[in-house]
Amino acid sequence: MLRVAIDGPGGTGKSTIAKAIAVRFGLEYIDTGAMYRALGLKARRNGIDESDADAVKKMLDVTSIDFVSGHTHLDGEDVSGLIRTNEISMAASNISKLAIVRAKVDEVSRYLASTKDVVMEGRDIGATVIPDAEVKIFMTASPDVRAKRRYEQLLAAGKEADYDTIFNEIQARDYQDSHREVSPLRAADDAVFLDTSDMSIEENIDAVADIITAKTGRSA
Ligand code: C5P
Repeated sequence: MLRVAIDGPGGTGKSTIAKAIAVRFGLEYIDTGAMYRALGLKARRNGIDESDADAVKKMLDVTSIDFVSGHTHLDGEDVSGLIRTNEISMAASNISKLAIVRAKVDEVSRYLASTKDVVMEGRDIGATVIPDAEVKIFMTASPDVRAKRRYEQLLAAGKEADYDTIFNEIQARDYQDSHREVSPLRAADDAVFLDTSDMSIEENIDAVADIITAKTGRSA
């Protein structure tokens, strides 16, 4: 069994790296942030206050989230594109504070990790979701490098982007994710730290692949 947990704040390149690692090692890629984002989207669409645990619980009871060929499906609708906005980033961060929401996402995540070899990315995968993962990596990068990456990602996707707004949003989300009561963003005690500020994407993928090989003997 091979379970690779990649945690870290937003914009560190976790998604890009995790997807490439999935291809190299033949693993299933699981994006736990996409589940929080889909739930944030549903709350916004229905005018549900993301901090209202009772209202969110009712919403969860009638919500299904699936991954179909790498796309995130919310109640059967492909929402992969809709969840990548600044507004939904913050909605996801807000709703992810609720213990009932985390329990639901953890349950789906653990189920997926029990059925196949995975690379799973998020904030608390190594520390909480799969504490016995074979490989745990905590990726960091300076806030300005992360804001620049997010900015370029949005432009490349043909979306509008403002650097200063993104920078402020990254700092606000970092703070909120690191200071929430339930399962805050934190590295597992046995995670390998990787500062990706000065790495190219290829260097970053190689660095993660080397860690996997060193820990498990498996090569790409
Ligand atoms: O990784 P991404 O930016 O898509 O995550 C969106 C939000 O979902 C994060 O800011 C965080 O609040 C929440 N999240 C979380 N735990 C995870 C993954 C994401 O709380 N494992």
